[in-house]
Amino acid sequence: MPASNFPPSDGTHFSTRPAQFEGEVCALDEKSLHGAYQSLESQGPVTRLRLAQALRAQGLSETDPRLGACLSAWGEDQTRALSFADFKKALALDERHLISRALTNQLVSGHFGSFKQRLSNVFAFAADDHQGEIAHYIPELRRADPEAFALSVCTIDGQNFSMGLREGDEAAQFCIQSTCKPLNYALALELLGEDLVHRYVGREPSGQGFNEITLDRRHRPHNPMINAGAIMTCALIRPTQNVDARFDYIRRVWGSACAGQEPELDHATYESEKATADRNFALAYFMREHKAFPPEADLHDTLELYFRCCALKSDVGALSLWAASLANGGVCPLTERRVFQGRTVRHVLSLMLSCGMYDFSGEYAFSVGLPAKSGVSGALYIVVPGVCGIALYSPRLDHHGNPSRGIAFSKRLVETFPWHVYAPVVQTPLS
Ligand code: GLN
Repeated sequence: MPASNFPPSDGTHFSTRPAQFEGEVCALDEKSLHGAYQSLESQGPVTRLRLAQALRAQGLSETDPRLGACLSAWGEDQTRALSFADFKKALALDERHLISRALTNQLVSGHFGSFKQRLSNVFAFAADDHQGEIAHYIPELRRADPEAFALSVCTIDGQNFSMGLREGDEAAQFCIQSTCKPLNYALALELLGEDLVHRYVGREPSGQGFNEITLDRRHRPHNPMINAGAIMTCALIRPTQNVDARFDYIRRVWGSACAGQEPELDHATYESEKATADRNFALAYFMREHKAFPPEADLHDTLELYFRCCALKSDVGALSLWAASLANGGVCPLTERRVFQGRTVRHVLSLMLSCGMYDFSGEYAFSVGLPAKSGVSGALYIVVPGVCGIALYSPRLDHHGNPSRGIAFSKRLVETFPWHVYAPVVQTPLS
């Protein structure tokens, strides 16, 4: 049943807009500058301390790499009051006009405080879900705390916040497992192009479990979001290089999508997964029997790369940045560096929408209507194109292998925000 607060009536608005491109600078007029100055001045003298508070309220931090030049021009003194002329001079170095847009509620989440509050309510709702079991088939995953729950959100303007487990805590770290699949698919697309990639992997939901031994009529894995397809995309990523170089390359790309946070290998999970990987070996041999692999791919190197990718360690903060880079058309919101081409991102999101949640993907597309990807560690990220990326961690899984709280959260999310891909037809009168 829809929650009664839909659509939002408290002024929470999102100016969904096309993804941003590197080098794009929007014009800033004198009026906006005045508006920004006045918003600070209305609270007292315009100091750096006040600015930091105002930015925090909009989900931005003083350590944001985009603000470095402007804040150093402002000076280290936290209490020195700036005249409008000095303020204008300092903000001239804020090339993206991030500060003035933040202070005049023009970022994608114009009312970040209400946004946070609504999301906290959705989080609290999902926290009440105690169903599901931790994945047992990879022994190391059993060590996770079943009650662990964390959320992080990053908008395409880089506004972010987290709740639940504290980032930096050991317990807040988890292996990304299947949530590595969209990135590997994106890499294969960029390296080889869509025609070649899809000669080796399909783009239909399989309708079966994520590690089912099955291929499509052309002897391809059904899609890159299930194990067989992800093993295949690993086979397509620089197959003539050695595994260490290929793995470093993948980690580097993760790093640039997550504003420099390169994920590390979790050795214990890697060993544990590799030692119990009969099913993945079976899938790979099955594909080799059907001549599904490209000629240069070595089966053992391919699996080695796949196991390492699944055992990369991350947290919700970094994963929300990756999801936000997808929401932003392939440009990392915090560094403004393009990681993937827009067309690549479109393909990735299309397959996340149709295949990202295993054999629950059709149900998820129906009831949530957003591209998402889950992993058996309990990781889940959701992309709201043109708005934000959301990452969750909660290790108890339902019988599809999706995090139980993640599903509860997702359903509540689209009752709270009009983000289901077809929400506009509900809100637009038909006459
Ligand atoms: N590493 C896991 C496996 O290969 C990934 C599966 C998942 O997260 N669904 O089985």
